[in-house]
Amino acid sequence: MHSIAILGGTFDPIHFGHLRPALELTQQGFDEVRLMPCHVPAHREAPDCSAEQRLAMVELAVRNEPALTVDVRELEREGDTFTVDTLLEMRQELGEEVSLNLIMGMDSFVGLHRWHCWEQLIDLANIIVTERPGQMLPTEGVMARFLKARQVSSSEQLQQASSGRVLVQQLALLDISATRIRALIKAGQSARFLLPETVWDYIEQHRLYRS
Ligand code: ATP
Repeated sequence: MHSIAILGGTFDPIHFGHLRPALELTQQGFDEVRLMPCHVPAHREAPDCSAEQRLAMVELAVRNEPALTVDVRELEREGDTFTVDTLLEMRQELGEEVSLNLIMGMDSFVGLHRWHCWEQLIDLANIIVTERPGQMLPTEGVMARFLKARQVSSSEQLQQASSGRVLVQQLALLDISATRIRALIKAGQSARFLLPETVWDYIEQHRLYRS
């Protein structure tokens, strides 16, 4: 079955902390990892970086890596998007015989039961929970029970199911955040080697994140 992992984010800017885990998932047999930049209300965007520029940087970053793709549907939709609506739309496009896998950090996973239509969401996709040091798996409550019922131990088991399974996965841990990159640039320092050279060149060329 064709398998797609989905990594959503603001990518403001995209950096190796996003790209390395995405690549590792392709090395574990996922056919495609889709980077999905999200819509950010204008007042919450970094004041000197537009949605078009965030997208341009994501596209530059994946240009030579065919298994990493870019999905613009959330960026193009006006207003906030519910993940469940994105997944519904993808299902309608791709049909049932595709393994859809939503990537989320442990911090998001523990609060998943508060997401809009979360029970429908897990009928539409599997979940890849990425582990960070110091973050604990839930041991009681709704998400602990959910995990007990749905957890699998290998990426193959996700790739064989179109939805409904959960894998807790340790991926590359790079201590890089977009916040830190923006702060470096604002302070007049270089952010090279935290993100692809092509993205850094774009940032310099367009004088992003300086004010
Ligand atoms: P910001 O610092 O602006 O909050 P960010 O660097 O955390 O941004 P996002 O675009 O918010 O980047 O992240 C998108 C997704 O990538 C999130 O699920 C986030 O947990 C994950 N992610 C971000 N940085 C890393 C990293 N260094 N290692 C692993 N996952 C990361």
